[in-house]
Amino acid sequence: MNYYSLNNKYHSVSFKDAVIKGLAPDRGLYFPETITPLTQSFFDSIEALSNEEIGLKVIQPFVSNEIPEAELKQIIAETLCFDFPCIAVEENVYSLELYHGPTMAFKDVGGRFMSRCLAYFNKNENQKNTVLVATSGDTGGAVASGFLGVKDVDVVILYPSGKVSDIQERQLTTLGQNITALEVNGVFDDCQDMVKKAFLDNNLSHKNLTSANSINIARWLPQMFYFFFAYKQLKKHNKPLIVSCPSGNFGNICAGILAKKLGLPIAHFVAATNANDTVPQFLQNGKYEPKPSVATISNAMDVGNPSNFVRIQEMYQNDLCEFKKDFSSYTYTDEETKIAMQEIYSNTGYIAEPHGAVGYLGLKKEMQNHSNSIGIFLETAHPIKFLDVVESVLKVQLSIPTQIKSLLDKEKTSIKINNYDDLKAFLG
Ligand SMILES: *Cc1c(COP(=O)(O)O)cnc(C)c1O
Repeated sequence: MNYYSLNNKYHSVSFKDAVIKGLAPDRGLYFPETITPLTQSFFDSIEALSNEEIGLKVIQPFVSNEIPEAELKQIIAETLCFDFPCIAVEENVYSLELYHGPTMAFKDVGGRFMSRCLAYFNKNENQKNTVLVATSGDTGGAVASGFLGVKDVDVVILYPSGKVSDIQERQLTTLGQNITALEVNGVFDDCQDMVKKAFLDNNLSHKNLTSANSINIARWLPQMFYFFFAYKQLKKHNKPLIVSCPSGNFGNICAGILAKKLGLPIAHFVAATNANDTVPQFLQNGKYEPKPSVATISNAMDVGNPSNFVRIQEMYQNDLCEFKKDFSSYTYTDEETKIAMQEIYSNTGYIAEPHGAVGYLGLKKEMQNHSNSIGIFLETAHPIKFLDVVESVLKVQLSIPTQIKSLLDKEKTSIKINNYDDLKAFLG
């Protein structure tokens, strides 16, 4: 399978090159040249398949023969080594819990898949890569954990100082080995801008920089799996499915839409955002106006210029009318999010963290337009990742899962940087 740059259809590269480069030289995001729907018999018998079998079926056309089937199976097995349960929260409302992986964030799937693809491609070549990643919260931890100890890959993570939770920060800054955390005096968009700039900097080409943000196809594409797993679990109800993704960089929801293009029967998607409302505004007035991000309690979604939105537009050939048939987007304040967390908890006993609660709000709003449907909101992180907010809003005390316990007595190590020159000096 080849991938073209969204800035230039005539620049196309292999899966391998797209994974290694991350971003096209013209700054375009890579996009698959063909999207071929899966067969009806696959959907008819999906309940009989394991998650690993589903994963292989879905991803193989995108990887083609660039990774042999036996190796790809192994990569998928290591990627999907935990559960993805759909938990009934209310009648016809389910939480798809994506947080049972090693860092308790949904980004574990993309992080693990990408690191193993890169390790496969590096195996036979005498070269080293540096993975450069900007995080607004969970990406860094998932990427760091996914790449820890992977041979010939150094990982450099940029995160906004004071704007990630304590546990998130520990996940970034306590691993050591091939992982370095750079603490940026700024917001997430500053981190992301520096990373994008570094990729285009000829003076850094010797570092073989690659990105592990959801702009990288090896992070983005495996996120399709979740939507197939949800369908597998809820198909038996025989009702239209509506999926709401709490959205920041729009990678997750973009993968959901790609899954729909492969034939997955999802009736409607909702991108629920916090106060960073660039996309909800666009759907309202047709103007796409990126803006600086604002800080919220759902900080992993504090993104003012969602990178993956161009991929979604590509899938609809920029036809806003067609797009709106499948897709809605709503924005919520921190106050609304807190009230939703309280209501979910007092009505059902379910503990949703702020990102999940934003997803829930978007889902409930959209379900008013679709009677007799089943709604799914994605729970993208374990409540423990947002311990302070969850405990103070719900007046509960959370017990600490084993994955997290081991972090609490580890020492933080980070390097503070202020601007691009500092980053460049560090990379050397
Ligand atoms: C990254 C993240 C999101 C947003 O996902 P996108 O793919 O960037 O839209 C939502 N919730 C949590 C907890 C995250 O870490």
